[in-house]
Amino acid sequence: MNRQRRVSGHTAVMSRRHKALNVISWREAKHIGQRWYFPGTTCPQGHVAKRSVSNRECRACVDAKRKRKPEQSRAKDRRRNGTPKRIASSRASYRRNIEKRRAYDAQRYPAEAEARKARALVWARANPAKRRKLTAQARRWIKQATPSWLTSEQKAAIHAIYMDAAAREGDWQVDHMVPIRGKDVCGLHVPWNLRVISGDENRKKGNRL
Ligand SMILES: [Zn+2]
Repeated sequence: MNRQRRVSGHTAVMSRRHKALNVISWREAKHIGQRWYFPGTTCPQGHVAKRSVSNRECRACVDAKRKRKPEQSRAKDRRRNGTPKRIASSRASYRRNIEKRRAYDAQRYPAEAEARKARALVWARANPAKRRKLTAQARRWIKQATPSWLTSEQKAAIHAIYMDAAAREGDWQVDHMVPIRGKDVCGLHVPWNLRVISGDENRKKGNRL
């Protein structure tokens, strides 16, 4: 792949969340109003990661800094965002009013509403597998089938399976071997219940074992 060619010769440190990205230049990202870009090359610290459009800071560098100085980072967050309680309440109100605000914005700022639609389209084209995965209903079912005791390694394993499906040529989907919405049994959204199968096979199988 293009990206690999570009990073060869460097010691590229790629964290899990930065893996399956398409290269997008600063200019393109800025143009479509995205807050990060992905040059696909290594930063001075050797990361291959997203970078901020506003200050060109590498996401992995920021993460590393947070890890090095957790106290300082938390203090900064508090200064910037308020107390955890305050954040939780404003998040809740954001979620409560999402539809309302969207309707208002669409009418008050039509140009921006169009731009948002365009961005969503760009995202959907760039992330076909994620888009398939993220239909609202499926997302609810998956959430219900995801046990709370999953470790971060297991979550990473699930992510890897989805990325594997997305990376393959053609129509490949992630299948729950024991269906999470089966008639008699209900499987879990856990790595050992997932496998990658072709779209045709998956449709044929439906919600059967
Ligand atoms: Zn970096």
